[in-house]
Amino acid sequence: MKDFGYSISKGRTLNYDNSDFSLKKTLEHDVVSYCRCIGCGACASTCSAAKFTDFSIFKCNMLFRNAKYDELEQELSKCMLCGKCTLVCPRGVNTRGMILEMRNLIEKNKNNNE
Ligand code: SF4
Ligand code: SF4
Repeated sequence: MKDFGYSISKGRTLNYDNSDFSLKKTLEHDVVSYCRCIGCGACASTCSAAKFTDFSIFKCNMLFRNAKYDELEQELSKCMLCGKCTLVCPRGVNTRGMILEMRNLIEKNKNNNE
């Protein structure tokens, strides 16, 4: 591959061939504003949990899209559900609702696979 002098971090890449987007489609249906995200990072930079832990809402999004639900479950448990991220989002994304819905979907998915 051509060396452009930079590389893309693994955690920031989506492999569309290996990803499972079935839960993502449900999330988009249940929290419609999720589709409006432009990845500006305002939610992550104001996150209360990120001040005290290594929690990253961006990481959650990537884990969700890459269907890494076990790791995502651990990550989501660090969110305090304070809702600050929702207040600062310039696109009106219901980020708090998104996190809650991700938790619900992971739980349902686990129960379905048992
Ligand atoms: S603040 Fe809103 S638009 Fe920006 S990354 Fe977060 S959810 Fe997406
Ligand atoms: S609701 Fe969760 S993700 Fe949003 S600012 Fe609060 S701790 Fe961070």
